[in-house]
Amino acid sequence: MTGLVVAIDGPSGTGKSTISRRLAAELGLAYLDTGAMYRVSTWWCLHRGIDLTDSGAVAEAVQRIPMQIGTDPAEPTFAVDGHDVAGEIRSTRISTAVSAVATNLAVRAELQRRQREAIAAELTAGSFSGGRGVIAEGRDITTVVAPRAPVRILLLADEQARLERRARELHGTADAGALDATRDQVVRRDADDSTVSNFSTAADGVVTVDTSALTLEQAVDTVRAVIVAARTELAGTQETL
Ligand code: C5P
Repeated sequence: MTGLVVAIDGPSGTGKSTISRRLAAELGLAYLDTGAMYRVSTWWCLHRGIDLTDSGAVAEAVQRIPMQIGTDPAEPTFAVDGHDVAGEIRSTRISTAVSAVATNLAVRAELQRRQREAIAAELTAGSFSGGRGVIAEGRDITTVVAPRAPVRILLLADEQARLERRARELHGTADAGALDATRDQVVRRDADDSTVSNFSTAADGVVTVDTSALTLEQAVDTVRAVIVAARTELAGTQETL
């Protein structure tokens, strides 16, 4: 039996977390939220009073972070040394600071290593998915972390659509004030993040899905169709999935 790895990348506000989580639950796969790993690392550095511009100190702290990421899509969990940080890592404080940590190349190498390990673990019987596989989402999963995953998707959406979605999520409305308050978390963060990974154009073999004009349901349907088609094709070449 061989498990399935689905890699999904994209900028903020394309719906990648919601879509990945929904489909992982539906298809019996694990869900790996790699953005949360950068958020947990940021939380840990701030918690320990580390200056985020001190790249050596940040890298050293992240090498040793006792981070536990639960991959059940029905209830993803995020903890450091047993302390639940799921709520805190979504705060504006962390959203504002996370790019400073995510653009540290030594941090990226360490978290990418842990992500590969987490993905490999889901292909074994003792894992959450029991070996069925995983949907991993982030910025560099299709290109760096799992470039040979049989299903690789880049989710895109135009800036206005992404801003409006995030504004509704964070403020319950997409009026001018809410859009302005959200801009830093979408536009500035993506600009900073794009200095270390390319998530605006698809690498060879990566399927692009533009969600700008799609409802969430339509986006889920489109991504499901890509995964199911790939799974069917793979089933023809392997004993079972
Ligand atoms: O997806 P989310 O908004 O939770 O990601 C938080 C941050 O983590 C991103 O802004 C980016 O800085 C970083 N990230 C990354 N590579 C990934 C996933 C997230 O650099 N694979």
